[in-house]
Amino acid sequence: MSGRTVLVEAPWYETRIMNCSFCGIMIARQYWQDDQFEGERFCTEACADVKRRLERDGQRTGQRSAPAKRRAGG
Ligand SMILES: [Zn+2]
Repeated sequence: MSGRTVLVEAPWYETRIMNCSFCGIMIARQYWQDDQFEGERFCTEACADVKRRLERDGQRTGQRSAPAKRRAGG
């Protein structure tokens, strides 16, 4: 549940439109960058949480020994 809100700093002539990686809603001025999903953009932190939960449920099949996640510091 860690990440940060990122402001979109695009020049006025930049017309590229971004969409939420999960629900596809249009992202206008800022998005949520989640530490667990690098390279993906979410409309809100809650949206990333939903995806996180879905992936966690999906991991019950297949992977047997997932590498333990280290927490260094905090
Ligand atoms: Zn979304």
